[in-house]
Amino acid sequence: MKRSNLSMLPFFFFFLLLTDGILLTARATSCSPKVEHDFLECLNFHSEPSQPISQALYFPTNSSYSSVLQFYMRNRRFNESTIPKPQLILTALHVSHIQAAVVCAKSHGLEMRIRSGGHDFEGVSYVSNAPFFILDMFNLRAINVSVEDETAWVEAGATLGEVYYRIAEKSNIHGFPGGMCPTVGVGGQISGGGFGNLIRKYGLAADNVIDATLVDAVVASWIGVNGEDLFWAINRRRRLQLRGSSCVQNQAC
Ligand SMILES: Cc1cc2nc3c(=O)[nH]c(=O)nc-3n(C[C@H](O)[C@H](O)[C@H](O)COP(=O)(O)OP(=O)(O)OC[C@H]3O[C@@H](n4cnc5c(N)ncnc54)[C@H](O)[C@@H]3O)c2cc1C
Repeated sequence: MKRSNLSMLPFFFFFLLLTDGILLTARATSCSPKVEHDFLECLNFHSEPSQPISQALYFPTNSSYSSVLQFYMRNRRFNESTIPKPQLILTALHVSHIQAAVVCAKSHGLEMRIRSGGHDFEGVSYVSNAPFFILDMFNLRAINVSVEDETAWVEAGATLGEVYYRIAEKSNIHGFPGGMCPTVGVGGQISGGGFGNLIRKYGLAADNVIDATLVDAVVASWIGVNGEDLFWAINRRRRLQLRGSSCVQNQAC
């Protein structure tokens, strides 16, 4: 049987637009009880009441804080005591927790660092010189493979190895052209392009994204059909295809 890949694989992708409006303030990394209280109130107010956000929060005073911080800290150099640590870690359990994080980061002048697999070489997903917190995606790692459609929805907190495993559970002739390292996160890899052993035939991981969900402060926006501009930002193949067809029509590129 001809070997094919699970091409055009969509993924549930929390691609948070962070740069605008997130304030950088003092360099202190400790958090006063009042700031902690106010921030918690803000998160509670802006998240879904049926999905208690308090269960997803780790402050430095919590006994699990260090282990949660270190679990996806793939470069342990950044665990040194001289390296700034987050004022809290939000291990989102629900989309509304992400929305609340974006809103409250802005209103409280905190920088937000998003971490999926934690493989960033420079530690940018869990280190900052400004007061910051981590939005950790590891709880949002569901993978739904449809061999019939040759597609899958993948949450950003899944690792590449988990994606390959779930595909292999359902088919021995399908795959996905992600990276070589199984513990790399889907969120960071695909947003950076993503190259692996199948690149010559199937291109980058990002080339095989056919739809995505972007979560910002207000809503989770479904893109692909309606949000063409947003989709262009993450899908190079589609961008080239569209540019190619416009070249044919206009006879100029
Ligand atoms: C050992 C090792 C092997 C590697 N092998 C490969 C390989 O074979 N092929 C390849 O292409 N690359 C490879 N890489 C590079 C890797 O793909 C990138 O470092 C990638 O950004 C890591 O993604 P992550 O989610 O694991 O990391 P993270 O540190 O969690 O995130 C990386 C960056 O993406 C941002 N980010 C993460 N999740 C989200 C999200 N949901 N929404 C918005 N932004 C987000 C983070 O804020 C950070 O800036 C490798 C890296 C390492 C350390």
